[in-house]
Formats: sequence, C-alpha cells, structure tokens
Amino acid sequence: MNPFADTLQSLRDAFVSRKTRPVEFRIAQLEGLSRFLKENRDALLDALAQDLHKPPFESEISEISICQSEINLALNSLHSWMKDEPVPKNLATQLDTAFIRREPFGVVLIIAPWNYPLNLVLVPLVGAIAAGNCVVIKPSEMSRSMEKVMREVLPRYLDKNCFAVVLGGPQETSTLLENRFDYIFFTGNTTVGRIVMTAASKHLTPITLELGGKNPCYVDDDCDPQNVANRVAWFRFFNAGQTCVAPDFILCSRETQERLLPALQRAVTQFYGKDPQHSPDLGRIISEKHFHRLRGLLGSGRVALGGQSDEQERYMAPTVLVDVKETDPVMQEEIFGPILPILNVQSLDEAVAFINKREKPLALYAFSNNSEVVRQMLERTSSGGFCGNDGFMHMTLTTLPFGGVGNSGMGMYHGKFTFDAFSHHRSCLLRSSGLEKVNSLRYPPYAQRSLGLLLSLVEINRKSQCTLL
Ligand code: NAD
Repeated sequence: MNPFADTLQSLRDAFVSRKTRPVEFRIAQLEGLSRFLKENRDALLDALAQDLHKPPFESEISEISICQSEINLALNSLHSWMKDEPVPKNLATQLDTAFIRREPFGVVLIIAPWNYPLNLVLVPLVGAIAAGNCVVIKPSEMSRSMEKVMREVLPRYLDKNCFAVVLGGPQETSTLLENRFDYIFFTGNTTVGRIVMTAASKHLTPITLELGGKNPCYVDDDCDPQNVANRVAWFRFFNAGQTCVAPDFILCSRETQERLLPALQRAVTQFYGKDPQHSPDLGRIISEKHFHRLRGLLGSGRVALGGQSDEQERYMAPTVLVDVKETDPVMQEEIFGPILPILNVQSLDEAVAFINKREKPLALYAFSNNSEVVRQMLERTSSGGFCGNDGFMHMTLTTLPFGGVGNSGMGMYHGKFTFDAFSHHRSCLLRSSGLEKVNSLRYPPYAQRSLGLLLSLVEINRKSQCTLL
C-alpha cells in the first residue's frame, strides 16, 4: 500500500489543471508565505529555541530574515523571471523567434534537514512556488517543534490542492521516494544524498543535492590573529557548529597556531562569557546521538580550549583541538558541532596539496592580509563556494549561486538560481511557414552546392575567420 498515493494524485491533478501557472496564483502563495512568517514569528522563534536552543538573534538572521528576503526578491522579480528569454539566432533563423521558456517541472519534492529547519524548507519552497510547481514538503523529523509548525500552521497559508506537508523519518521518506516526482530537491548528508539519487534514478527524476563535507579554513602567517579568531569563532560556533558551511578545520603554521589560540580564547570569552554553558547565545546539539558522536571526536589530538560537555542539556563548550593528525577520527567526518581542530602546515603549497587530495568541500576559507595569498588559494583549489577573510558571508548574497561540487553536492540555488533550479528551460523556436525555397536546400536529393550554402547559414565561424559578418 502506498500511503502517499492520494496526496500525490491530488497534487498532480492540480498541476495538470494549470492552476499554478498564472503569475497571480504564484504571487498569492508567496504572499501567503510572507504572512506565515510575520504572523507566526514568536511560534517560529520558540520552535527554534526548543529544537536547537537557537538564540533569537541567530534565528532572526539565519532563518526568518533570509526567508523573508527570498520571498521579497521573488515577489519583486517574478514578472521578469517568468518572461521568455530571447536568444541570438543564426542566419537560417533570422526571421524566426527563438527563446528559452521557463516551465514548471510539475510535482516536486523538497526534503529538508534539521539544522536550519525553517530556512532549508522555505528558501527552496519560494523558488518552487515562483516557478509554478506543486510541492511536497518533507521537513526533518529531528527538529520536532519546527516539524509541528510545518504540519499544523504552514498549510493554512498555502493552497491545499497544490502544496502538501508530509512527515516521517528515514523509513517513511524511503517509501515517499518510491513515488514518481518531477524534481527532487534534497538537503542533507552525503550518505542519504546517495539514497535519494538512487531512488531518483529509477524514474530519471532530475535532482538538486545540497550536501555537507569538511570545509577547510587556511590562515596565513600574515594575518591579524584577533580579527581571524573573532570571525572564525563566530562562524564555527554559530548554531553550536551545526552549519553545513561552517569552517570545519584550520590549516596554519605552528607559529600562527600559537598566536591564534589566545585570540580564540579571548573571542570565546567575549562572545559567551567565562562559562559558555550559561550563555543565552550558544545553541545546543540537536540529539543524543549527535552529542555522543561529537563527544567521541574530542579524543582526537589535545583539547586546547573548551572540551566541557553536559549530556543532560546536550551542551558542548566551544572547543579547539591541537596536535590533530590527518588520520584522527575528527578528520574523517564532517564535524557538525562546536569543535575546531587545528592542523599544521608549513606553507600555502602544503595547504593547497592537503585540500586538493580530499573531496571537494562545500565552502573554503582563506585568511591573509596579503590578497595574493587569498587569490592563490582561490586559483589552485575547487569548492562549492569561497570566501576570503571571512566565514560564510558569501551565502548572504542572493546574486551568488549556492551549492556544492563533487561530494558536496550538485545543483545550485538562492535568489533567481532557485527559480531556475525548479524550472525546465525549454528551448523554443517559432518558424514561419513561408520561405520554402530556402528550406528546400536541405532536402534530398542532396547537392554539394546546397551543402555549402546551408552550412554558411548555420555554421558558427571563429570571429577572425568570419567572412559574412
Ligand atoms: P540527513 O541526511 O540525515 O536528513 C535529511 C533529510 O533526509 C531528513 O528529512 C530525513 O528525514 C531524511 N532522511 C534521513 N535518512 C534517510 C534515509 N535513509 N532515507 C531517506 N530519507 C532519509 O541530514 P541531517 O542530519 O538532517 O542534516 C545534516 C546534514 O545536512 C549535514 O551533512 C549537513 O552538512 C547537511 N546540510 C547541507 C546543507 C547544504 O545547503 N548543502 C545545509 C544544511 C545541512
């Protein structure tokens, strides 16, 4: 028995009825999402506090405000995004109309994780709605309070015939994935990403995979240690380190490490006080399972800062590890918690070699007063995104695509890129029924003379060799 069959059939019927196509419908749904955010602000902040002990400041900037901005951008831009995009033509089609039309895929699935449980549902949803799709939303079962808001409150703001929230963990999601979707947008870890891709391949369903990984952070000897420590500590310990783009480990010389350690200590004390457990500004680990996993990682190298934990509260102090080896457990998996290992390299070359022999990360960071060092790191490596002299500020720009490469994912979104991700780019050429004389050059019986003429109408020449234009 397929528990999702009725829901999916009714979404498909709605899509086929073309209800989601008019711009007015899309605008009404996006405005509904905006009202959802505004009218339930307190409930959303509460849910984030209950699930992750997320400080309201962090919830506002990383969840609510980002979603609101994406909605506003889509509302401001929808008319122009939906316009057919004219394209340059060859000589044979000069009198015709050629354009790209962005069409909705149909019934799409969004599967979200727990670490930014509002943002990672709503940001893709904005693009899916803007592009004219019907959507099945699968929030994470781990962020229970937000899952409840998604189930009980969100549907009140959206057309029930076109948008459905379904719940469940791995087993239910596996059953859900047996169904045919027209697009799947998955955010989560690499192992589950493979499961999603395998399921999608059965129906040849196109996918976006927003995955995780280990994001290197290179710190050059020529730097201001306090400045670097403030920035790295904030981005590493934000949301208790449970951020896919957080700097995962530092690469620097031993000398720079010795300058960074007291600076990191000062940053942590300044941010969270003498006892971070009592700070209202530090989150908690999502589950017991992740808490125990993280505690196990503290055995790698030597604790230079922090290291305390409290199972009852799922609290872990902002922690820095030194004397860490590449083969230590903390370097074998994405940390996804408030632990920052430092590994020593002697030079930029060694750092580049270290990074390039590992899987391509979702984000890469380089800190230096010397812009040439930052530029070299950018030139000689690859990653989903890159930021020089800061943490994940690059993802605050909706003008930049966000996504991984290789093991950190495929596809991209944010801003117009989300609209494009959820749209099929249909190539359209509208020809006239006249000019049959010109068209007859292509028909058999083939003549060498016609071939030359035909090629001159369709072939692209190198600029310097072009004789006709
Ligand atoms: P996860 O992969 O465990 O879960 C994500 C979703 O997949 C959840 O909705 C869950 O119910 C479902 N799921 C879990 N196991 C499944 C299975 N066996 N079959 C089918 N569905 C299954 O990820 P998570 O623990 O919720 O989130 C943390 C991971 O997500 C980290 O690796 C992090 O880097 C990554 N992440 C990536 C981004 C990004 O934008 N690239 C953003 C946030 C998180």
